[in-house]
Amino acid sequence: MTKVPELFGSRVFNDQVMKERLPGTTYKALKKTIENGEALDISVANVVANAMKDWAVEQGCTHFTHWFQPMTGVTAEKHDSFIQPNGDGVIMEFSGKELIKGEPDASSFPSGGIRATFEARGYTTWDPTSPAFVRDGSLYIPTAFCSYTGEILDKKTPLLRSMERLSTEAVKILHLLGKTEVTRVATTVGPEQEYFLIDKELYDQRVDLKLTGRTLFGAKAPKGQELEDHYFGSIKTRVAAYMKELDEELWSLGILAKTKHNEVAPSQHELAPIFSTSNIATDHNELTMEIMKKVAEKHGLVCLLHEKPFKGVNGSGKHNNWSISTNTGENLLSPGKHPESNTQFLLFLSAVVKAVDEYQDLLRITVASAGNDHRLGANEAPPAIISMYLGDDLDALVQSIIRGDSYESHGRERMHTGVEVLADFKKDNSDRNRTSPFAFTGNKFEFRALGSSLNIACPNYMLNTMVADELSQFYEALKDAQDLETAARELVRDTLVAHQRIIFNGDNYSDEWVAEAQRRGLLNMKSLPEAFSHFLDRKNVDLFVRNSICTEQELRARCEIELETYAKQIRIEALTMVDMAQKNITPAVTAYVSALADAALSKKALSETIPVNVELNLIRSLSGKQERFVALTEELQDAIAGAAAIEDSQEKAMAYREKVFEKMEELREVGDSMEEEMSEEYWPYPPYTDLLFGV
Ligand code: ADP
Ligand code: MG
Repeated sequence: MTKVPELFGSRVFNDQVMKERLPGTTYKALKKTIENGEALDISVANVVANAMKDWAVEQGCTHFTHWFQPMTGVTAEKHDSFIQPNGDGVIMEFSGKELIKGEPDASSFPSGGIRATFEARGYTTWDPTSPAFVRDGSLYIPTAFCSYTGEILDKKTPLLRSMERLSTEAVKILHLLGKTEVTRVATTVGPEQEYFLIDKELYDQRVDLKLTGRTLFGAKAPKGQELEDHYFGSIKTRVAAYMKELDEELWSLGILAKTKHNEVAPSQHELAPIFSTSNIATDHNELTMEIMKKVAEKHGLVCLLHEKPFKGVNGSGKHNNWSISTNTGENLLSPGKHPESNTQFLLFLSAVVKAVDEYQDLLRITVASAGNDHRLGANEAPPAIISMYLGDDLDALVQSIIRGDSYESHGRERMHTGVEVLADFKKDNSDRNRTSPFAFTGNKFEFRALGSSLNIACPNYMLNTMVADELSQFYEALKDAQDLETAARELVRDTLVAHQRIIFNGDNYSDEWVAEAQRRGLLNMKSLPEAFSHFLDRKNVDLFVRNSICTEQELRARCEIELETYAKQIRIEALTMVDMAQKNITPAVTAYVSALADAALSKKALSETIPVNVELNLIRSLSGKQERFVALTEELQDAIAGAAAIEDSQEKAMAYREKVFEKMEELREVGDSMEEEMSEEYWPYPPYTDLLFGV
């Protein structure tokens, strides 16, 4: 095997390759674009394109593709070969124009009504801040995607804009504080990714997994996660082989895969990379999810990224570790040794506190999905109520600022292990609070409410935009201050006083918190349709428009797309359930009941005195349930038809939630209880025991 340092980034057109292959002036011009966002000249692009093509062809590529992130939730790519006719033959060519701009037909991507089909044109534009790479014989070029008339149609563009905004506003504050050497600020993200691995042969027998990514029926296995023996448990050989190949694939693409371990639920695992700038972290997370699935196939496995593949065991999420740092290498969310006298830290901290309080609805909205709705508030993920956890030390400091008294930092305590051979070590300043949706973890915030399949561009552009907006207000409040230190201190105090309700250090899973949060006036939006009814609230539209992230029309389109997607997903799930119920489950129950009846009759034929109570009782019970099951299947069909007839997308999504989804739950309950009574031989789908413990 190639050594890891050589393997790492070997399929990436990274800085080292650029340095080697580009003329000095071109390299410098490109770096200026990458680092300072300066516009790129076409003559530079031509040279870069040619060097990229030569490098890609050497790696066996014949094609290039603009790779983008439309509103579908998955990445998109269309491949063009490098060939150009030349006499009787062809040569391989790639121009700056082709590198910079692509024109995929945009009409089949969701646009939320922005575009009519007759304006089919869309543009992809090269994002030079995220490096190109090769995969499966193609050169992949990360791009942004917009319509012919300039409306954004993807997830990357608002992210890039929000990073710019945050940089601009943070730099202004830092200059005010005297740090004039800082010229740029970047947000950084490290996403921890959870997933399930199940056997491909079993997966293939489950139409629900194939069509919807989750099991729509399935009685509980006798064992779940109650023994807590899977989390961090020893990794099985087959899974270990998968993880090894996955790491190598990711490393070769320059992805900093770092940690791997078993998660709480059986068959559940996690991968965490080392953090990078938000944009690259987003591209890398999209790639990671895709490669997780592809590598699984090679091992006879299927990687499930759905938020709730199995009822009764934990679903999968994604933790978005987020921070801000300067081009001089300083982490702006690092409290330092003496946070009490670190005005800069306190300013940035209170900007985040204010942002999370004022835009708690947006943070909830950004993690809403049909899949994630199963988790939030289900005592396995943070609740749907957004709040912040600061940890004991920082909270003590914040409380003393609010009270206006003095605070003495205790420094970090040493942890004494009490065992000679084990070294003593310093304790972290903040303990973990696994129940908090938004937790401070030493020098970053961990937004923990994301679903496993989410494109992290969305929560991050929300987060960046709201914090940028708060910083710009801070700048206005401080820019003319006579005594900056005093003014900044007052601003920090006023902000923390006004927004302290968002801070909660206790158990977010408890019922007391739900009541307390309501008393504090915090929002508790349980489902996507409920959350999205707030997306277009005036203050939210104003936020995005004021910061030039999206226009009002684009926001409306986004809202429309999310509501439509939700309705479609629930509809597909409901139709799949009906299909399973009618084509397989009901007939299977009939077959089993008739086998039981045959058994009872043959026993009686042998001798009238042989007892047949077992058969009769089962026949009675199953037939009763089956009646109910068939009736509920019909009711579900009616509910689907009812929801489908609604025009308004908000009402429609709500009907899918309240009418269709609720009915699906009822149907499932009866189905699962029939599975419990049936012979495994007759039940048409592999049971949970095999799915969860089969690898
Ligand atoms: P924890 O122990 O709190 O889970 P880790 O150090 O294990 O923290 O990191 C968890 C994730 O957070 C990793 O992906 C890591 O790269 C990321 N992370 C660490 N520092 C930062 C930072 N400054 N900005 C963004 N993400 C970070
Ligand atoms: Mg963590």
